[in-house]
Amino acid sequence: MKRDGILVVISGFAGAGKGTVVKGLMERHEGYALSVSMTTRAPRPGEKEGVSYFFTDKEHFEKTIAENGLVEYAQYCGNYYGTPRAYVEEKLSEGLDVILEIEIQGAMKIKKLFPDSLLLFVMPPSAQILKERLTGRGTETPEVIKQRMDRAAGESEGIEDYDYILINDTVDRCVEEAHAVITASHARPKRNLALIEQMRADLKKMAEEKDI
Ligand code: 5GP
Repeated sequence: MKRDGILVVISGFAGAGKGTVVKGLMERHEGYALSVSMTTRAPRPGEKEGVSYFFTDKEHFEKTIAENGLVEYAQYCGNYYGTPRAYVEEKLSEGLDVILEIEIQGAMKIKKLFPDSLLLFVMPPSAQILKERLTGRGTETPEVIKQRMDRAAGESEGIEDYDYILINDTVDRCVEEAHAVITASHARPKRNLALIEQMRADLKKMAEEKDI
């Protein structure tokens, strides 16, 4: 029986390593499709158009919003970020689990629009380790690091709204835990209503038959 794809949101503080976890998930396991977001933020060194993000300007982003081309969007540290609709719908209908690596406001919008979505929050082992990871990246200015730490403090207020938290102590363990949670989620009765109905109908028919 064809299984339905799950819309999986992966959020976490900047520097928590969610990008690495998502990359590990895609490389090591089948059945996933990674959504590439659109943003007005400038590319960082090494980021590729259409792979890291679809980089665009404010005008084009707002036009895409107006055309209903995004499943959700949010503003984060002065820039727009959004999830293109067409890819998500196409891959879910193919039965793939679609991964959205997005921040908390977007995650809450997804939960509202897609109540069956699965929300995962990646946490660093400690706040100190988060700060060290952000500083060690070497790609951001001290002001941006400060902005992102402040943002993390704010985002920590919303963690209870997620379905599961994943502690990113080692990437390997965190990737396998994410995969385990998603796999287990496929086994939930509410995601298997057709299978349950079929079983019920077959059992009822058998019960009505006189012979075994
Ligand atoms: P960064 O600038 O570090 O690449 O991303 C900043 C934040 O925006 C991260 O928390 C990232 O997960 C989030 N983000 C990336 N794409 C999207 C998106 O399409 N929608 C929303 N709501 N957030 C996104």
